[in-house]
Amino acid sequence: MVATEDDVSKIDFAAELEAAVAAVRDAATVCRSVQSNLVSAATLEKKDRSPVTVADYASQALVCSSLATRSKIAAVVGEEDAVELREGSAEDTRNKVVEHVRHVRGSEVSPDQALDWIDLGGVDPDASTERYWTLDPIDGTKGFLRGEQYAIALGLIEHGRVVLGALGCPNLPGPGGSAGCLLTAVRGQGAQIRPLDASGAEIVSSIRVSDIQSTAAARFCESVESGHSDQGQSASIAAALEITEAPVRVDSQAKYAIVAQGEAQIYLRLPTSKTYREKIWDHAAGMIIVEEAGGRVTDVRGNDLDFGHGRMLDNNAGIIATNGPIHDTVLEAVSRFVDQD
Ligand code: AMP
Ligand code: MG
Repeated sequence: MVATEDDVSKIDFAAELEAAVAAVRDAATVCRSVQSNLVSAATLEKKDRSPVTVADYASQALVCSSLATRSKIAAVVGEEDAVELREGSAEDTRNKVVEHVRHVRGSEVSPDQALDWIDLGGVDPDASTERYWTLDPIDGTKGFLRGEQYAIALGLIEHGRVVLGALGCPNLPGPGGSAGCLLTAVRGQGAQIRPLDASGAEIVSSIRVSDIQSTAAARFCESVESGHSDQGQSASIAAALEITEAPVRVDSQAKYAIVAQGEAQIYLRLPTSKTYREKIWDHAAGMIIVEEAGGRVTDVRGNDLDFGHGRMLDNNAGIIATNGPIHDTVLEAVSRFVDQD
């Protein structure tokens, strides 16, 4: 569907933000319930990935069904689709997904309905899809399985630019001592934090990156997984920047949340392979939240992230997010240790 200029002017960002917040909260309910059972059932030791698979599908079903009723933007580019889930061999997983979806949406939801909701997220964006959501139903699945950090990440892309983001981090502290936070941003309107849990008063406060000007006083974050970011190179870069604090290793876009709140000043994601391309749903929400909190986000070459190329950031390599004032200094150090080709 090709949107006209008229459509563009009609987009109501306040309403879309509300839709994104509700969708992420619905998904967080199921993710939390699966993660708490997982820890108690000692699935951790068994290294069984099936609980995260169930939560991933159920999370996508809930976000897509919520957006279908509340958002004017129908297209969702999600990480999952229901193709495998429809196969006969997936019956056990499918039943569990449906059970979780019913828990939030009601017992009348049919299995077909739940699968169709997942498939609403199967849009493949091309040049004619001018506006779409992008969703990571569980970002940081390894952290989820370890009982640690993960996120539900929802971004809105318009003409290849991220214009809105909502990032639910169930295991990061929220305002007022609440468990879990939900960070949001709309382009040009700043970034905010609120409790992830919808019950109680809705306390929404602005967030801001750290204002430090010297890298020696900085803390940096990076992936727990050494396969997702080169930790040897980051150690060399940190030494060159005279950073003395140990890296904050956290799974998922919780790293962007930490930088946006000023608890660290740098997020380094250094390519471990020349061929890997970052996925749009791994960065859309986090990037706009850091930018709207006053920070800067580029790739390792200093280029802006280009969301106008389908499901991947085809024109970018790695990610560097900072509080802003130290960005160029960090990029200069990165250029000395990271191959820029
Ligand atoms: P993180 O929790 O920050 O380590 O990132 C999790 C994300 O890393 C997942 O959602 C994957 O899409 C992504 N990922 C998978 N393989 C790689 C890789 N080789 N390099 C960078 N990111 C990756
Ligand atoms: Mg992810």
